[in-house]
Amino acid sequence: MERVIIIGSGPAGLTAAVYAARANLNPLVLAGGLYGGQLMLTTEVENYPGFAEGIMGPELMEEFRKQAERFGARIENVDATSVDFSTRPLIVRTAEAEYQAKIVIIATGASARWLNIPGEEKLRGRGVSTCATCDGAFFRDKHIVVAGGGDSAMEEALFLTRFGRKVTVIHRRDSLRASKIMADRALANDKIEFVWNTVIEEVLGAPVMTGLRLRNVMDDSVHDLAADALFIAIGHTPNTEIFRGQIDLDPAGYILTPDGTATNVTGVFVAGDVSDLRYKQAITAAGAGCKAAMDAEKYLEALEFSMHAAV
Ligand code: NAP
Repeated sequence: MERVIIIGSGPAGLTAAVYAARANLNPLVLAGGLYGGQLMLTTEVENYPGFAEGIMGPELMEEFRKQAERFGARIENVDATSVDFSTRPLIVRTAEAEYQAKIVIIATGASARWLNIPGEEKLRGRGVSTCATCDGAFFRDKHIVVAGGGDSAMEEALFLTRFGRKVTVIHRRDSLRASKIMADRALANDKIEFVWNTVIEEVLGAPVMTGLRLRNVMDDSVHDLAADALFIAIGHTPNTEIFRGQIDLDPAGYILTPDGTATNVTGVFVAGDVSDLRYKQAITAAGAGCKAAMDAEKYLEALEFSMHAAV
């Protein structure tokens, strides 16, 4: 029987692991096959306090991991595949094992959203991607398109100017959602062109992407744009599939937290982007991980005290 199982290994999960380990709770972290969360897919993180010159995302996550391990957290690079929160102890399963735990901290984060249009899936890895830092270098001197109007889209577009001869941002409205500083940087960049009020209807080409079918939402006109790559940066979906039916979610799938980091299920706590539609920052996720571990510790103390008192 585990005292604490943490599912997820981004800033939220690994901060929870540091705090839980230092509280002698001997946490087991189910880190996922692709451990480290979204920062593993970024280049430079400029806004994580304590790193005045910035730090590479994967390097930052490696530090998080080493810090958690230093205090005894056990980290396994496996995915949780299902849970049963209707029984006590709580149950978490992976492909290979079934674990019992007094406490579960969910920190499974969120994943990039796709457009769900024809051609997108077929051409994934053949021009279509959600990760500029992973795939940008494949498109040197090519025409690259970025979909979206938020900070991620601006960040990707700016980053991709290092590789592409031209970067076109396609946004469905006529104003950006991105923060002013990011928007200004992208708008001022000569290599970036904006196409407004336009949606992408189809990714064209075989076996590799050669273009996009676009529709102007103002006049419904359709035309094809020749391009070599499409980077989709239209936000994220919380990773809550395995918790559906086990815990209260909001309509968008984010885990609800009626009281601090506690969920509607006693003994299950949550931290990070999986319950945060609003801030979605590494630093807020780390802060939430700290809070979840502290809440879990208090809960466990009360639980173990009452069990002792009962015998
Ligand atoms: P976001 O702010 O939700 O923006 C998503 C963008 O994609 C919006 O412009 C949205 O259009 C568009 N979009 C959504 N679904 C679409 C669809 N089906 N088809 C076409 N366009 C679609 O997501 P984000 O850019 O990933 O940012 C998430 C959070 O992380 C934000 O809080 C952001 O500030 C933060 N962030 C910060 C940085 C940084 O500071 N360096 C970098 C990245 C992200 P509408 O505008 O019409 O809704």
